[in-house]
Amino acid sequence: MIYMDHSATTHVREEVFEAMKPYFTKSFGNPSTIYSLGREAKVAMEQAREKVANIIGANPDEIIFTSGGTESDNIAIQGIAYKLKEAGKGNHIITSAIEHPAVIETCEALEEKGFEVTYLQVYENGIVKVEDLKAAIKDETILITIMHANNEIGTLQPIAEIGKIATEYGIKFHTDAVQTVGKIPVNVNDLNVDLLSISSHKIYGPKGVGALYIKKGTRLQPIIHGGGQEKDLVSGTENIPGIVGLGEACKLAGEELDKNIENIKKLRNKLIDGVLSKVEQSYLNGDKYNRLPGLVNFRFSGIEGESIVLMLDAKGIAGATGSACSSHKLTASHVLKAIKLEDFESHGSLRLSIGYENTEEEVDTVIKEIPPIIATLRNMSPIWNKDDSHWRENTKNCDI
Ligand code: PLP
Repeated sequence: MIYMDHSATTHVREEVFEAMKPYFTKSFGNPSTIYSLGREAKVAMEQAREKVANIIGANPDEIIFTSGGTESDNIAIQGIAYKLKEAGKGNHIITSAIEHPAVIETCEALEEKGFEVTYLQVYENGIVKVEDLKAAIKDETILITIMHANNEIGTLQPIAEIGKIATEYGIKFHTDAVQTVGKIPVNVNDLNVDLLSISSHKIYGPKGVGALYIKKGTRLQPIIHGGGQEKDLVSGTENIPGIVGLGEACKLAGEELDKNIENIKKLRNKLIDGVLSKVEQSYLNGDKYNRLPGLVNFRFSGIEGESIVLMLDAKGIAGATGSACSSHKLTASHVLKAIKLEDFESHGSLRLSIGYENTEEEVDTVIKEIPPIIATLRNMSPIWNKDDSHWRENTKNCDI
C-alpha cells in the first residue's frame, strides 16, 4: 500500500512503540501513587512533558496532557470563554470559517450558551486577512482561535501576526496546531500564542493522546471534573503509555524536522507538477506557496472525490476525499466552500498528504495512476461533456 493520508493519521513508529511497551506491562503504576511503581510512571510522564515542551519552545510546566487534539481544543476554547465571561470581560470570540470541527462545533455550542462568535472568511487562497481580524475585534472580544494549518487544504495562517494583534488588544489567542507541530518549526514565543493544541497520532505517535500548551499565567475554567490530575483541567488516571509515545514522537519529529521538510517538499512539488501537467482541468486547492510541506489538495472537474479515493484504493493507494469533512458526511466540505468553490466543484477534490516514509517511486506511481482514473470517471460522469472536455451546461443544478 502507498499511504498518502498522513493528515488523517499516521502509523506508530517502531521506536515510539518500543518506548511505550514497558508502560503497559512492567511499569504500569498510577503516577498519583507514592510507591516506586507509581513514581516510575510519574518520572516517565514528566520526561515526556519535557519532550513535548521542547518541540514548541515551551516550559514543561506549560504543558498538560489530554486525550487528543479535540480535547485540547475544547479545554482551551471553553476554558477561556467561561473563565473570562464569568469575570465580566466579555462574550465575543473570533475564529475562522475553515477550522476543524473540534473548534467550529465548540464555538457553535458556545453560541447556544450566550457567546457571540465571528467566523472570519478566508478568500480563495484559504488564508484569513489580518485587516478582517482587526475589524472584527470589539470591546467584548475575549478570545481569538485560528488554526495554524488547515487539515484539508494545508494552508498556513499568519499566526505570529495575529498573535501580535491579540497581545496588543489584550485578547487571549489559541491556535490549533495539530497539523503543524512536528511537521514545520513551531515556537510558541515566536507565534505569540497563549494556548496551542497538539495531537499525537498525526506525528507517528499513538491515537487518543495529545497536549495543550497553556502560557504561564493563563487561567482556564475546567470543563472536565474529577481528580484534577493535569492542573485541575484534565481529570482521570493518566494514559502513561500514550503520553510516553507522544513524548517520543515529538522528540523524533524534532530531531528529523529539517531533513523531513526538505524531502517531503520535494515529493510534494513533484506530485503537484506531475498531476497538474498530466490531467487537464485539474487544479490545486488553497495557496500554492503558503502551505504545509506535505499536504496537497487537488480538484478535478467533472467527477466525485469519493470515486477517485475508491479507485485509488483498488490500486493500493490511500488518499482522502476533499469533498467531505469526514468520510461519513457527504456534504460539500465547509473548507472548500469557504475558499469559494461551488458545491459541484468541491465534490471533485482529492487530498493527498505525504509522510517521511513516502518515496519518489511512490510519488511516480501515484502520478501514473491518477490520469487514467480521472479519464475513466469522466467517461462515466453525467456532468462531464466528453465532446469538448468540459462541464455540461447545467452542471450547477446537478446534485452529485
Ligand atoms: N484539529 C485538526 C486541525 C485536526 O486535523 C484534527 C484531526 O484530524 C483534530 C483537531 C483532532 O485531533 P484528534 O484526532 O487528536 O482529536
